[in-house]
Amino acid sequence: MNEYDSDRIINSLSAHPVKNPADADVVIVNTCAIRDKADHKAVSAIGRYKKYKISNPNLIIGMAGCVAQLYGKKLIKQIPHLDFVIGPREIGKLKELIKDIKDSSKFKKINTSMDIEEIFKVSPYHEEGKINGFVSIQQGCNKKCAYCIVPTVRGSEVNRPLKQILEESRLLIDQGAKELTYIGQTVNSWRYEGEKFYNLLDHLQELDGLERIRFTTSFPRDITSKMVKSMAKNSKVCRQLHLPVQSGSNRVLKMMNRSYTIEWYRESVLKLKESMPDLSLSTDIIVGFSDESEEDFAQTMQLIEDIRFDTIYSFMYSVRPGTPGEKMSSHVNEEIALDRLHRLQLRQREITLENNLEQLNKDFDVLIEGASKNNPKDLFGRTSQNKVVNIRNLDSSYIGKIVKVRTKEAHQNSFVGELI
Ligand code: SF4
Repeated sequence: MNEYDSDRIINSLSAHPVKNPADADVVIVNTCAIRDKADHKAVSAIGRYKKYKISNPNLIIGMAGCVAQLYGKKLIKQIPHLDFVIGPREIGKLKELIKDIKDSSKFKKINTSMDIEEIFKVSPYHEEGKINGFVSIQQGCNKKCAYCIVPTVRGSEVNRPLKQILEESRLLIDQGAKELTYIGQTVNSWRYEGEKFYNLLDHLQELDGLERIRFTTSFPRDITSKMVKSMAKNSKVCRQLHLPVQSGSNRVLKMMNRSYTIEWYRESVLKLKESMPDLSLSTDIIVGFSDESEEDFAQTMQLIEDIRFDTIYSFMYSVRPGTPGEKMSSHVNEEIALDRLHRLQLRQREITLENNLEQLNKDFDVLIEGASKNNPKDLFGRTSQNKVVNIRNLDSSYIGKIVKVRTKEAHQNSFVGELI
């Protein structure tokens, strides 16, 4: 979501990004407030740009995103070289805001209103020829998970009209995108004027020039049979789903206010796997929420044994201001939570590798994206399951093409494959 917003920021200013901050007229730090650490990172990033302002007093420095939304006024007071803060819903007004600052040298701006009519006005910047892109279909969230700051900083759910989604998709496809990822906080709860998420997948399937469709993040309670059917029947929808479970314990899920039971989650995974046996699943897990017991944690460990996710994004719970979690009196001791996190991550690394080894000497359709990070002579691409495959000595004419590849080496985070 933040990457998408950064691209919208570039477009809203009709700006050309520069590599060296010393060459910039405007520096904007786009921030995330999901965890405590991310908050601190954002504030220290602003500190790093102070020296550029000293050598160039005309440089305008701003902060965008969720930390800006959360602490707007406080940040402006605390950081003298910060010229403006702007919340996620106000990106469309960025050009106007910068102009105001330029016209009045002492003017500090705080734009953090939630009451914006055209949230989706600005489309993201897309580098000509880039193979993949993002399209936002939803802003904000109506769920009320006890640990989560998103509803506070991004507001309640607003779904983007179908027409705009299709228009932005067309724009990106015409600029070279072959694979689009549709994003929203609970993307599968999207609905607009009688159309639901499963209908949206049918519309996207019809887009000429689009080869692959991904979407994130799905909410477990909103997995429906119609959605599963639509995923299975639409050939462009990738065999990959990110489905955050957060905990394997019903007691913890209840405290988190996640509105589904672990039985519901398991049942949904079963339905998905029955319809798409080659579906790759990833999830998010928070350890140490409220008074999570060793017994609760054991249930999470059991869940990862049973489901065998390909990837887990796991975090230690950190209290966020203004959330119901902040008012909960019991907290797991940090050392215990850290130990659980290590145990979870250790086992998951083994499962990921075991899953990858099972995919050895198998054939996949791989969309080639560009030069491999390991060796510029090789190209890399992704399978429908979102697995990275490096292919040795492949020339750049393959970029943007879907090729048949047989996996020859399986590693922790990637494969090496050969064209067949
Ligand atoms: S579904 Fe829950 S965790 Fe996800 S953004 Fe909404 S409130 Fe936060």
